[in-house]
Amino acid sequence: MDKQKLDVAVVGGGPGGLFAALALLESGQVDRIKVFERSQGYRPCGAGITVDVNGMKAVKAVHPGLCSRLEAAGVDFASFEEFDQYGQKHADRASLPIAQLDSADKLKKYGVKPGMISWSDIQQMIFETLPEGTVQFGQALSSFSQDEDGVRLSFEGQPDVHANFLVSADGYLSPTREALLGDGPPPFAGVMMWRARFPFKEGLGLPQGPEWAQAFIGGSRNAVVYGLAGNVVCWTIAVPLSICQENGVDFDAEQFATSKTRRQVSSYQNMQSDSTTTGNFHQRCMQAVQGFAPQFVEYVRNTDPSTMIEHGLFARTGDQMSSRADVGWGKGRVTLIGDAAHPMRPTGQGLNTALEDGAVLGWHVQDQGLTAEALRSFEKERIPRICKIAEQESARGRLAYQKDAKDSRSDLWGRNYKPTAKAAVTANSVM
Ligand SMILES: Cc1cc2nc3c(=O)[nH]c(=O)nc-3n(C[C@H](O)[C@H](O)[C@H](O)COP(=O)(O)OP(=O)(O)OC[C@H]3O[C@@H](n4cnc5c(N)ncnc54)[C@H](O)[C@@H]3O)c2cc1C
Repeated sequence: MDKQKLDVAVVGGGPGGLFAALALLESGQVDRIKVFERSQGYRPCGAGITVDVNGMKAVKAVHPGLCSRLEAAGVDFASFEEFDQYGQKHADRASLPIAQLDSADKLKKYGVKPGMISWSDIQQMIFETLPEGTVQFGQALSSFSQDEDGVRLSFEGQPDVHANFLVSADGYLSPTREALLGDGPPPFAGVMMWRARFPFKEGLGLPQGPEWAQAFIGGSRNAVVYGLAGNVVCWTIAVPLSICQENGVDFDAEQFATSKTRRQVSSYQNMQSDSTTTGNFHQRCMQAVQGFAPQFVEYVRNTDPSTMIEHGLFARTGDQMSSRADVGWGKGRVTLIGDAAHPMRPTGQGLNTALEDGAVLGWHVQDQGLTAEALRSFEKERIPRICKIAEQESARGRLAYQKDAKDSRSDLWGRNYKPTAKAAVTANSVM
């Protein structure tokens, strides 16, 4: 046996790749596994995400101790205020997806407590649960090839790596997917997003402590701001590219052409920030929010640029994904997970489905051994569910910001979901 050869190489150290590595280790079938992440390390950045009932269940199935940590870090929203694009308060509507998680009720009903957690904290908690040295930073995959003997991975400026299997979790513009399937980048929805966090500050008119949320909606721009554990304030804003351009934001419009050539896929990489990229996000975002609610503009002004991420909204619909129902989304010794496999609208299920992926992959490998057949049966189990969730999340994304929307948080994705991993993977879990 080649001692240098890994059982599994995971490419991409986002929450999806980290959690898949954990689930594979917990399966008991995988010893030598490394996660290769292109950034040099993690930085506190981005906003927050709800780890919902389905995501918590997936985590609990793989690692109950990690689930408890996430539950303890999560917050619900006791207060919710909504403003228009001029900063005037609305009294009559509470439709945003982040409001009212009803976490105490869900705990009683489903045995896990959903909660809003800072994105960086989720990533850090999964990272800390992995054995030391599992994640290799500063390793940007440039190409790979596979044969009956395994997968050879080439990294920029680093020695090649040989592994039996490759799990690719390199995000929604996944170069691995393009090399494997050649099906082009996901369609660009014509919207730019910025996310960031800052420590609570007096004088900005923000509520004290965690568990509050504000929304600013109107004139095609939508923003949310909320307080999380540890006095962290997070915000996200979505701005149509047309408004960005009217406001003079310096983007290269060519980057948003919808061509499917690989050359353009690589230029899209500029629109997917990672833990290393900082760029001129703050300056561009300040331009994009010109003329928007003055309170929100002040939040952006008071944000440390190093915590910001910027990206375009790229999503595949359920219909686009269902075309792979018979063949799966991987090939041979390679599978895809998380946003690389199924990028969706950013309504929260991107993370939760990535967590489900990890749990279900772990279970298939535990059940069938580490084989290409296990990868295909994992994909075949996932595709119908992912298609359903993607369709529902597209509808919810559209609904959430409509003026007359009531409650867009209805049980669209079926919180009764029980990952198949539950029974089997839990057997190997370490508390
Ligand atoms: C820095 C960052 C901050 C984010 N913040 C938020 C947030 O606040 N709220 C929210 O809802 N979602 C956020 N997201 C998106 C969210 O993480 C995903 O939508 C979802 O969780 C699925 O995760 P993923 O692991 O599949 O993909 P991602 O989280 O996108 O992770 C992909 C990883 O692959 C790495 N990668 C890409 N190409 C290569 C390569 N060639 N070689 C090696 N590594 C590579 C990237 O650096 C990244 O770490 C953020 C993503 C990133 C990268």
